[in-house]
Amino acid sequence: MRLSTIPLATLREDPADAEVPSHRLLARAGYIQKIAAGIYVYSPLMWRTLRKVSNIVREELEREGAHEILMPILQPKEIWEQSGRWARYLAEGLMFHMVDKRGSEVCLGPTHEEVVTTYVKRIIKSYKQLPINVYQIQDKFRDEIRPRFGLMRGREFLMKDAYSFDIDESGLDASYRAMDRAYRRIFERCGLAFRAVEADSGAIGGSGSQEFMVLAETGEDAILYCEESGYAANVEKATSIISATPDGGAPKDLEKHETPGIKTVEQLVEFFGMEAARMAKTVIYNATYEDRVEPIAVMMRGDLEINEVKLCGIVDALAVGLADEETVKRVTGADVGFAGPIGLQDDVRLIADLTLQGATNLLTGCCETGYHCLNVNPGRDCKSPDYRDVRLARAGERSPDDKGALVETRGIEVGHIFKLGTKYSSAMDATFIAEDGKPTPFVMGCYGIGVSRTAASAVEQNHDDSGIVWPRPIAPFEVVVAILDAKRSEQVELGEKLYADLVEAGIDTCLDDRKMSPGAKFKDLDLLGFPLRVVVGRRAGEGVVEFSHRATGDKADIPATEVLDRVRG
Ligand code: ATP
Ligand code: MG
Repeated sequence: MRLSTIPLATLREDPADAEVPSHRLLARAGYIQKIAAGIYVYSPLMWRTLRKVSNIVREELEREGAHEILMPILQPKEIWEQSGRWARYLAEGLMFHMVDKRGSEVCLGPTHEEVVTTYVKRIIKSYKQLPINVYQIQDKFRDEIRPRFGLMRGREFLMKDAYSFDIDESGLDASYRAMDRAYRRIFERCGLAFRAVEADSGAIGGSGSQEFMVLAETGEDAILYCEESGYAANVEKATSIISATPDGGAPKDLEKHETPGIKTVEQLVEFFGMEAARMAKTVIYNATYEDRVEPIAVMMRGDLEINEVKLCGIVDALAVGLADEETVKRVTGADVGFAGPIGLQDDVRLIADLTLQGATNLLTGCCETGYHCLNVNPGRDCKSPDYRDVRLARAGERSPDDKGALVETRGIEVGHIFKLGTKYSSAMDATFIAEDGKPTPFVMGCYGIGVSRTAASAVEQNHDDSGIVWPRPIAPFEVVVAILDAKRSEQVELGEKLYADLVEAGIDTCLDDRKMSPGAKFKDLDLLGFPLRVVVGRRAGEGVVEFSHRATGDKADIPATEVLDRVRG
């Protein structure tokens, strides 16, 4: 490819909305152009990179026996009603949907479990045809609340989604492990530093889920891991071992104390001279369901934090968020800051963290403005809470296997593998005839990779002040041959010859034959980030060119005849 022939415009300025390096650099280098929030055109160079990532994905999935298909983007409401997800997705507001000419409702696929289950159930009739795994690479549509960071969180983005169908759980285990292997090879081949972590399986349930995180400071996800044991989990899911809750002793008489204006844990510690671990703060949340919003009260040890993702899973809601002042006043009858397990409105669900189970003589609020209680014994002074693990694990705490301390790092979720079990097959009546002759629901798994997000993550991990430094396996071209002065025939001739020879030798090469000043050209090529550069300049007449590596900046003048060997390394 000749760079002079492609639409390519590098920008001097960063786009105003670019907050992270990958967005800034991909936009400035002309790889992507924004059409609307979270919607981009991929330039020829970007598309080459996306195709390379896609091809690595294809090769590794097919090595594990998966087959590529292509499903429709436009999907009818009916199949989403069968799975029971239509109302849910509408309520979440993530799905683009519309009404067609005939008055039927359709959506633009945010994911394809419904379509693939429909497809497979009509074809696979017997256990003898199982297992199977099918995948596609295609645009997905999600009306994200905050599309941002360029390709990281788009509203239309390129995803690989695979789906496995097995006869039983042990079959699913094998399919899941195969995808785990494939994913590790895929991200390794893309040249990325990543970590596989335990993930929250959310309201979808299922028995296992792992995310693949590309490590980057700008990542939206926090990860806790333990160097000693290899434990690693998304903070949304992570558990830990912490010091035991201090013994409160035998239950004593309840005492109510006036605490005017004392609301926070810090203020209470000072006021009562009592350690935070002997207090239970009570936080009121609103849990949103398809058809209602419900207040939930959560008790947490004073020195610990609530994990809202765990809470959301426990109450099986679409979303949970801190309750507004009005709700707090309604369910506690008190101002914000005085909520407690005592005096709560009867029908409010009360959840307490496991660290509070068995705790005695706690300090808590009592739903009365200006008062707190000492010697609170749940079950005696208020209803018995539902004790669950709702605690946010933190760096420095012990790994759940007790082998070492947890360390925090940040990551970008590029892939997610998920055991679905029979959730969709049962709901959608997708069965096969098992060996015993009985209709049996498929045991399913689903496996996603954000292809466009993976490419952006590669830039997030591989760039410097001058621009992108593509990992060689997914660079749009591995080598650029740059003619410095297109008016000098010896440069043009040698450049053209080198370009032709490299292409002939099967090396992925482009020719920079654009007419621009050498300074501007160097800057541009640094920004574009091709791994290897051959500059045909002043010494072209002697058959000498400059060979350099984008990553290290190492440069050397070498005879043009040695270029091929250098490229092959
Ligand atoms: P996130 O938590 O980042 O919103 P998700 O968990 O909703 O992502 P999945 O449904 O697991 O995403 O989708 C599979 C993969 O698709 C993700 O691991 C991610 O790499 C990619 N992906 C998801 N949403 C987006 C998006 N808005 N833009 C680009 N890639 C995305
Ligand atoms: Mg995910």
